[in-house]
Amino acid sequence: MPDPALRFDELISALKERNFRLTPQRVELVRLIAISEGHPSAAQLYAAVRSRFPTMSQATVYKTLALLKDLDQVLEIDLRDDSHYDGNRPGPHPHLICMQCNKIVDGDLELDLSSLRKLEETSGYQIVRPQITFYGLCSDCKQSR
Ligand SMILES: [Zn+2]
Ligand SMILES: [Zn+2]
Repeated sequence: MPDPALRFDELISALKERNFRLTPQRVELVRLIAISEGHPSAAQLYAAVRSRFPTMSQATVYKTLALLKDLDQVLEIDLRDDSHYDGNRPGPHPHLICMQCNKIVDGDLELDLSSLRKLEETSGYQIVRPQITFYGLCSDCKQSR
């Protein structure tokens, strides 16, 4: 995991470049993303910011996350319940998702870029977000079966 303080600076300067107004609430959200381990959902981040800034609106949380995604600073993972975000590994990487408890972990698997290029050639698509997800049961849920 990268240094959270460094990650925080990166995220803040990316937002500043877009002239994003950095209110204390938004700075708090960025701080939470920078220190996040795992893949918090938008709702979890919203709840965490609200505990310190009760006036924070949900729309602001989603707007900030959308902008960070646009700037390739966070990786969005769509789940049934909500969008989850990887704030520390913004580059494409595979995820393992538990179908029972929704736990998300990074898959330790190298993405083969030459296969992606080949896929682009054969499909005619330009791949923008190569998101690979493996669904299964995490070790806890596997055991409880
Ligand atoms: Zn599980
Ligand atoms: Zn991840």
